[in-house]
Parts: sequence; C-alpha cells; structure tokens
Amino acid sequence: MVEIARTLQNAGYATWCVGGGVRDALLGVANLDWDLATAAPPPEVRRLFRRTVPVGIEFGTVGVFGRDGRMHEVTTFRRDVHTDGRHAVVEFGASLEEDLARRDFTINAIAWDPIARRLADPFAGQADLEARVLRAVGDPEARLLEDRLRALRAIRFAARFALTIDPATWSAIRTSAPHLPRLSPERVRQEIEKTLEQVDRPSTAFRLWRDAGAFGSLVPPLAAVPDQVLEAVDCLARPGGAGRPLRRTLRLAALLSALEASEAERALRALRASNQDVATVTALVEGWHRHGDALRAAADHADAVPAAALRMAVSRIGRLRVAGTMRLLAARWRAEGGPTGSPVWRLHRRLLRIAFQDPVEVADLAIDGDDLRALGVVPGPAMGQVLRALLGDVLEEPERNHREWLMAAVRRWQASGAAGP
Ligand code: ATP
Ligand code: MG
Repeated sequence: MVEIARTLQNAGYATWCVGGGVRDALLGVANLDWDLATAAPPPEVRRLFRRTVPVGIEFGTVGVFGRDGRMHEVTTFRRDVHTDGRHAVVEFGASLEEDLARRDFTINAIAWDPIARRLADPFAGQADLEARVLRAVGDPEARLLEDRLRALRAIRFAARFALTIDPATWSAIRTSAPHLPRLSPERVRQEIEKTLEQVDRPSTAFRLWRDAGAFGSLVPPLAAVPDQVLEAVDCLARPGGAGRPLRRTLRLAALLSALEASEAERALRALRASNQDVATVTALVEGWHRHGDALRAAADHADAVPAAALRMAVSRIGRLRVAGTMRLLAARWRAEGGPTGSPVWRLHRRLLRIAFQDPVEVADLAIDGDDLRALGVVPGPAMGQVLRALLGDVLEEPERNHREWLMAAVRRWQASGAAGP
C-alpha cells in the first residue's frame, strides 16, 4: 500500500489512506483493508500501475494490486453534488477536506499520509475515538437524510467499537426511522448480516435498532423484541469469515426466534433471503418452539426423560439439524438463566448419538416398499402411512427394527381389519 501511495505522490498527486483502515489502526484493531484517496483522476491511476481493475469507475474507484499481491482501492477525491436518500452523484476535482467531509462519521473521516506519516483529521475523529463517541460529520439530520443507510451504519459502528452515539446523531437516527423502508430489502439484510458478523455482542446493536424504531419500520414483528432474545444472539459465536455458514444462520435464527416459525419465514422472504437460508433458519426457529421446553426439561433432569421421547424429538428435528438446533436452544437457555454447561453438553451428545446410531427416519427402516407391496399394501399415501406408523414403533423401541418384526406388525394390522395402522 505504501508503494502505491509513493508512486502517486511522486507523480504529483496528493494521496492518503482513508476510511476503516485508519480508524482500525488508531483503535489497534487488525484490518488489512487499506483504501487510498488521491487527487489523481481515474485514468491517471490506471496509467501509473501495471495491474489495475476498474472496480467502480463511475465513482472514481480503481483497484490497484500492490507488491503484496493484494488489491487496494484507490478512489479519486470527490464531493457529492446530489443525493436521493441512498445514491450520490459525485464530482471529481475535490480536495482532501471535501472528500473527508462527505464521509459519514468523524471516526471514518480521518486520513493518514503513509509517506509523510501524518494524520489529517479536520473533524476531530481521533478525539471522538478516544472519547468513544460516534458522531456524524457535519449536521446529523442533513447527513442522515442524504443517505438513509447511515442510520443503520451508525448503530453498527457504535456496537462494534463500543461507542456512545452522540445525542444529536442519535436524535437524527430516530428521525430517520420512519423513512428507512426506502432502503432496498437487500441492503437492510446486508446490514443485519454485517452486524451478526462484525459485532461481538449484537444485542447492543439490535437494542438500538429497536429503540430507534428501525425494527418497527423494517422488520415490524421485531419492533418490541425482548432483551432476552437479543442476548441469546450474543451467546452464539461470531461467524468470522467463510467456512462456518452455520454460525451465521444460527445468529440469525436466534434473532428471529422471537417470532413464530411462519412469521420468521415471512420476515426472511421480505428481506430477500436465499431459499437455503429461509429453509435453515425457519427450521431452527421451529425447533426452538416445538422442542425447547421438552429438551430443557431433559437437560434439567437428565435421566428422568425417557429415551423414546428424545428419539421422537430427534426424528422430528431431522438428523442433520440436531447439532444446530441444540446450539440455538443452548443459547436461548443461557440467555434466560436456564441450564448451561455440562448438563446441556451431555444432552447434546446424547441426541447426536441417537441421530447417528438409531433409526430415526423412514429411510432407516429395515423394510421397504417392495416388502410392503408383497404384503398387499398399495403404493401411495397408504404406504406412507404404514411406514410412518412403523417408524413410530421403532422410535419407541429401536430393537424392533428388523424385517421380521416389521412384517409381523403389518400382518397384525391387516388381520385386525383396521383401515390403517
Ligand atoms: P468495514 O471495516 O466495515 O469495511 P469501513 O469503514 O471500511 O468499515 P466501508 O463500508 O468499507 O466501511 O466504507 C469505507 C469508508 O467509506 C468509510 O469509512 C466511510 O469513510 C466511507 N463511507 C462508506 N459508506 C458511506 C456512506 N453511506 N456515507 C458516507 N460515507 C461512507
Ligand atoms: Mg471497508
């Protein structure tokens, strides 16, 4: 990054590190995202470096590959000439001060010259960082009106870095709340996801969403979400990058576990969540409502709950969702002062053992469609009903899962003359 800045400065263009990289360095937080702002117009930036990518050329952003092999965003100084509540029309040929003035918060409007090694901080962002205050650059009402997303960004940054929101900025956030539905659902979902990803204790952020009225206008069924549910989100680990997709959906499920499963599903669809996320999160929320109480009793009185009841729960949750469901349940119990620690782990292991050793699905039965046809059961709904009834018998007593026992059970029903099992 330093050599990119040097090349631009040597060509006669003022160039500064800006944004999150500077803020995080001042906070002592690791951040490899060093963005540069420069007086050089975009064609100049492209001419001066061998490997560039036009990342957002209409906004003046060129991706430049540094010697470290990483791409750094180099953006030409700009000023906003017109905004519509989300998008800005920008103009180049601005000064560093003008470029910093259009940034959202003082802590995000500090520039660092990596060659001269000095800060430019016209809005006293460093002082706000030290005092741990989040403050809009300029007039909060006007700045939050220009771009509605800033209200949600303010809350996210405040929660992420444990900052207090300056009163005038907070009042502007509250004023913005009724206008937030102008944001696209994708943007709103992205803000929720970034909060779940970046913030250690998302309850801090979501309490502010609730108290500012942001849930009221964006996810109405969460308008009065109780603290206890939000604290359950804190009890689940941060997703922390790729490779742990379940962690992200778990935190989302905890947030939505305040709602009935069908309501959660509707909220996710309104936020344009992917079909896979809708399916996973809704199933987890449903698991909480259907099995939370019974499994809590099982954790509280480990040996008192019959194994058959646990097998039944595993069967209804689904073998592959047991682990996720238990993690959601454990987080909710912890937040409400319920069972934690080894009783919960013992139950978790017990359920997993059932899930992977016992027959819990129709497909696990030691009998199949051909066997039933041979006994005269007609394929179709009737056969499905017979198989589910047999699964019920097997969940009660796994030893029954032998072809002979199952065939005999079918013959018994047939002999009893009942219409079905
Ligand atoms: P993160 O670590 O989450 O990426 P960041 O500060 O880098 O934090 P970005 O969204 O990547 O946040 O934006 C980079 C910079 O661009 C911000 O620090 C801020 O100066 C400016 N910025 C981004 N979005 C806005 C906005 N909506 N309004 C004003 N300035 C913004
Ligand atoms: Mg960034």
